[in-house]
Amino acid sequence: MELLKQRILRDGSVKPGNVLKVDSFLNHQMDIGLINEIGKEFKRLFSDIPVTKILTIEASGIGIACITAQYFNVPVVFAKKAQSINLDGDMYTTKVESFTHKRVYDVIISRKYLNPDDHVLLIDDFLANGASLLGLIDIVKKSGATLEGAGIVIEKGFQPGGRIIRDMGVRLESLAIIESMSEDSLTFRE
Ligand code: 5GP
Repeated sequence: MELLKQRILRDGSVKPGNVLKVDSFLNHQMDIGLINEIGKEFKRLFSDIPVTKILTIEASGIGIACITAQYFNVPVVFAKKAQSINLDGDMYTTKVESFTHKRVYDVIISRKYLNPDDHVLLIDDFLANGASLLGLIDIVKKSGATLEGAGIVIEKGFQPGGRIIRDMGVRLESLAIIESMSEDSLTFRE
C-alpha cells in the first residue's frame, strides 16, 4: 500500500533491537485518515471472504481493528493480556511472548464472544516473530471458529513470523513488508 509505505519512509524511525517506531501515525498518535485507508484496503483484499468477527490483541491492534470493522460491518473482539483484569465466565486462554516488552503474557478471550459459527479475520499492527498471531490462531482453533485470514499493517519480512504463518496455510496479507532496515535505510519487499 503505497500511501502507507511513503508514510513509513517519511515518519518512521528505526530503534535498536529491530524496532520500527511509527508512534506519530499508527500506534501512539493515530492518523485516522490513514487508518481509514488501511481499513478500506483490508476490505478490498478480503472482500471475497465471509467475515463475522474481527479479532485482535490489545493494545495497539484495537484502533486499527475498529476502523477496519466498519468496512466489514462486524464486531471487534480483542484478546486481553491477563494480569489485571477479571472477565466473568469461561475463557479461552493462550500464552504470547511480547516482542516489544520481552515477556510472556497470558492472553484471554471470553467464550461468549467467539463460537464455532464465527468466521474470523485477524488484524494487527505489526508482524515480527509471529507470537501474537500464533496466540490468536490458537484461540480461534480452541473456539472451533473458522480462521479466514490475517491482515497486518507492517510485516518485518526479515523476521520469521510471516513465513511461519504462511507455511501454516493461513491467508496472510501485509500492507507493507519491510525487507531490511537500519538507522539510516529502510527497504520494502516488492
Ligand atoms: P510478534 O508477536 O509478531 O513477534 O510481534 C508483534 C507485536 O509486537 C505487534 O503486535 C506489535 O505490537 C509489536 N511489535 C513487533 N515489532 C514491532 C516494531 O518494530 N515496532 C513496533 N512499534 N511494535 C512492534
